Amino acid sequence: MTCVRCGQSRAGFERAPFPGAIGTRIVAEICQDCWGQWVKQQTMLINHYGLNVMDPQARAFLTKNMQAFLFKTGAAEDVDTTKKGSINW
Ligand SMILES: [Zn+2]
Repeated sequence: MTCVRCGQSRAGFERAPFPGAIGTRIVAEICQDCWGQWVKQQTMLINHYGLNVMDPQARAFLTKNMQAFLFKTGAAEDVDTTKKGSINW
């Protein structure tokens, strides 16, 4: 498959790395390399904002950023250390 994010022909997924329609789209359009980059970015966001991944609001925030990161849709959160602890939901 050709990844829509990096434009490279790379191995896709055997199983969706994310549930639902978004996971289906990732399998169809995104390579494992780009997914790996998102996982690192996600870890950075979780650590930066001290997110609890069991919190639905935190999950919605990460999903929004994941779509922006992988599909370049919507606004990605800029990690700005001056805003630490002051995120507005
Ligand atoms: Zn890619």
